[in-house]
Amino acid sequence: MIEAPPFRDGRLHIGLTGGIASGKSTVARLFAERGVPVIDTDQVARQVVEPGQPALEEITRLFGPEVLDADGRLDRAALRARVFRDEPARRQLEALLHPLILAATVQQVEAADGLYQVIVAPLLVEFGLAGWVDRVLVVDCPAEMQLERLMARDGSDEELARSILAAQASREQRLAAADDVITNDGPRESLEAAVAVLDGLYRDIARDGDRDRPGVRLP
Ligand code: ADP
Repeated sequence: MIEAPPFRDGRLHIGLTGGIASGKSTVARLFAERGVPVIDTDQVARQVVEPGQPALEEITRLFGPEVLDADGRLDRAALRARVFRDEPARRQLEALLHPLILAATVQQVEAADGLYQVIVAPLLVEFGLAGWVDRVLVVDCPAEMQLERLMARDGSDEELARSILAAQASREQRLAAADDVITNDGPRESLEAAVAVLDGLYRDIARDGDRDRPGVRLP
């Protein structure tokens, strides 16, 4: 569980989550194509460690200059290797980064326009952040399909892909936190229709303020 600062803009905030390679980015892109502001916490996580940001200085102080590349940028692979199997170091890194990522996300959300916003947060359920957003949208698909897509997209071997999946929340845990669900086990084209339905629902909710409408399962 981590503490997240509240949103103060009073708008509707949709948390989009799902296991790795379930199709979150694909769904997020479809919302963006419909003009919905999308704030991706993975992107924010990269922004907060850009050169010149205080986080990068602190990371260098904690873990040494070997986590920087020749241009002085964070070498993410080197940092991952440094904290891999070093639980206290990983905790230290997370304690530094998570509040910064969440605060920067809130800032970007408040600066964005739109009737509602989609916040992509891959680890929303793992971090106990379901209550941070107004509704949780889960992109769900069978684990075997996730593995196939992950191996095809990132070229990872099966063992690595399985270990990444094992470290994340289970399908059941994620679905238990969901308000709305897109089951992404069919053709890509059916995602478009699903996003169109949800976009309509979220616009309605944003207008009438009833955030507790029953969940929708699509397609
Ligand atoms: P995530 O953001 O959840 O990690 P992505 O949106 O990147 O997942 O999807 C993982 C991979 O699977 C990508 O290569 C994407 O193009 C592909 N993909 C997503 N949805 C489908 C689908 N319905 N059919 C086939 N491939 C898909």
